[in-house]
Amino acid sequence: MMRNTKFFVYFHSKIPEIVKSVVVRTAENTFTGVNFKACENIPFGIQFAYDQYRGQFNGSKILEKAIEYGHRFFLIVIPYDLFVPHLNFVFGVAEPYYGAVISIWRLQITDSTTIFLERIQKTVKHELGHVFGLPHCKNECVMRFANSLFELDLKYPDFCDKCKKVLMRIGVIKS
Ligand SMILES: [Zn+2]
Ligand SMILES: [Zn+2]
Repeated sequence: MMRNTKFFVYFHSKIPEIVKSVVVRTAENTFTGVNFKACENIPFGIQFAYDQYRGQFNGSKILEKAIEYGHRFFLIVIPYDLFVPHLNFVFGVAEPYYGAVISIWRLQITDSTTIFLERIQKTVKHELGHVFGLPHCKNECVMRFANSLFELDLKYPDFCDKCKKVLMRIGVIKS
């Protein structure tokens, strides 16, 4: 179904180069059956999704707008803090079979570049896992739900066998 589908990765203009390359490398090395294309800018303004009372961007609204504009199979990476209704913040949010939005705002809260980049890798795998239809997983698995940096850092960095099998069956991981 997803094999050879083009998957667009849109970076906000304030995303650093090192982050861009880690996001793209993680996506390509993990989802070997998917054709990723990195783009320098998000194809629409996101200011409408800013909540001035919370000082954060509403990830659900960004997803909705992208889908409304006809985008399919996309990952949007932004430098600002992200929330969805009923959660104080999220590292990312996804709409299965459409796309995802990721924020690096909280991921960069560390003195260690290694930890920062590991968090990005886990978040990319997790949100793209959702895009490819995976729900949260209770195994030692990157699809485990994490809503704090502590949980994110503890989380296993890869898919468990069960989730990997699903991804192979739909062709996003080459067997
Ligand atoms: Zn999740
Ligand atoms: Zn799993």
